[in-house]
Amino acid sequence: MSKLSVQGWLQRYFLRRMELAAVKPDSLTLQKSAMVFSPHQDDESLGCGGMISRKAMAGAEVKIIFMTDGRTSHAPFIGNEELIALRAREAVAAGLQLGVSEKDILSLGLTDGTLQLNQAQARDRVTELLELYQPKQVFIPYHREPPPDHWVTNRVVRAALRDLKRSVEVFEYPVWFWYHWPWVKLLQPTRRATREVVINTLRNGLGLKLLLDFRYVVQVEEVLGRKRTALEQHRSQMFRPATFPNWPILQDVSQGEFLACFFKPYEAYYRYCTPEGEYK
Ligand SMILES: [Zn+2]
Repeated sequence: MSKLSVQGWLQRYFLRRMELAAVKPDSLTLQKSAMVFSPHQDDESLGCGGMISRKAMAGAEVKIIFMTDGRTSHAPFIGNEELIALRAREAVAAGLQLGVSEKDILSLGLTDGTLQLNQAQARDRVTELLELYQPKQVFIPYHREPPPDHWVTNRVVRAALRDLKRSVEVFEYPVWFWYHWPWVKLLQPTRRATREVVINTLRNGLGLKLLLDFRYVVQVEEVLGRKRTALEQHRSQMFRPATFPNWPILQDVSQGEFLACFFKPYEAYYRYCTPEGEYK
């Protein structure tokens, strides 16, 4: 029998806990209209591709709203305008794979990396969209997500929700949350990366935050293939062009350990209904 590391053992333990917590949402729940707010072009597929796909299959009206234009992911390799256009095309292709039609894929077009400076503008645009489409469910990044565009998306949408005069079911999804031990190894190739993982690990209580916050777990095993195909449409994030050997891709993050987090048979959400803090 092979010896399992503490990291491997803990991953198995958490996965087992997720399996035990997993719910099978009924078709009425899946059919509820939803608006998915994604800071960048790929977060929607990574964080909630399985849920989007299941909802679309059930006939729900799902809209995906990209907060930023994605211009900074590969800035040294490709011009701003070219990268913005490329990521917009990739986002539409990914959305189509998840079952969302092109007309339901929108972008606020704010400059990537600057959401923190444009919160008032973002909030106004989000309020307009929420009032126009009246979604029953809203998907946003987890409030403790490290990159500013992620936690600011959470903050902006929740502020807009506070202005609405009705209750909305909120699902916070994890993306960079997973960038902590035991999901990725503590020792990373650079000191900076190791430091980031150590800080995230402490912030997440050695992984216990997963059990404490992400208590709404959904089975997505049957749509994992679609989720993978959708994510692969974000070619600039998933595949390295032969002409650019240093072009970073998601597979590079902790030698694939990070990307593997998104292909579990479950997606976990921090779920509540507005006004904030009220669980159903
Ligand atoms: Zn992102």
